[in-house]
Amino acid sequence: MRKPMIAGNWKMYKTAAEAADFMEAVKNKTFDPDKVEAVVCAPALYLAQLVESAKDSSIQIGAQTMHSETEGAFTGEVSPVQLNSVGVTHVIIGHSERRQYFAETDQTVNAKMHAAANNDLRAILCVGESLEQRESGSTGDVVSAQIEAALEGLSADEVVNAVIAYEPIWAIGTGKTATSQDANEVCGVIREKVANLYNAETAQATRILYGGSVKPANIGELLATEHIDGALVGGASLETDSFNQLVEAGLNAAN
Ligand code: PGA
Repeated sequence: MRKPMIAGNWKMYKTAAEAADFMEAVKNKTFDPDKVEAVVCAPALYLAQLVESAKDSSIQIGAQTMHSETEGAFTGEVSPVQLNSVGVTHVIIGHSERRQYFAETDQTVNAKMHAAANNDLRAILCVGESLEQRESGSTGDVVSAQIEAALEGLSADEVVNAVIAYEPIWAIGTGKTATSQDANEVCGVIREKVANLYNAETAQATRILYGGSVKPANIGELLATEHIDGALVGGASLETDSFNQLVEAGLNAAN
């Protein structure tokens, strides 16, 4: 049984006070972290503060991106070593918004996957197709190519320690969720790709999340499928009630 993961992606939302209020409101909700991995991926500015306030809770703190180098003259960037030094445990890599607006490529994504593995950070690797690619029937090819490029040179153990998030671009922030059947099918393609690149055992152990307009009302159905092991959630992770309900759904899936 793969442990479900619920990862919130706050994107560029919340002030420092709002971030602190959120953590105060969710941190005392006790659940067994062996049953569900709950992560909040916050703006870099608040990571240290959130790690501190979440330290006695079951919630872990992740970054939304990072540089692949450990240090250097890269104005404005944050390194994996720096994330690690403040207690961050997870990092989203290759989110479609980073690929679209910040020139993230398959090569930079691959370099960052190695950097995460080398610096004890759990990568949440995002892949997904555009609406045009879906309509032309190339979803499987697009996603498989992204997986192959992102994982190049990683060991099987490093892949299993990371998490893959299938996020169809047309479903992000649009209110359009892929049907659980469609999402499961693409996650199945991803699992098969991992099996081809590594082996069946690695593919079975790798967790695959779905992301794109996930909310408390649709998460149960998604988690009930064969290949979906959790969710990467934007909008619905910003409110404490819905975040708690999503974690609850992860716990139910684990039981
Ligand atoms: P959404 O975002 O849940 O708001 O669609 C998901 C994501 O971008 O990770």
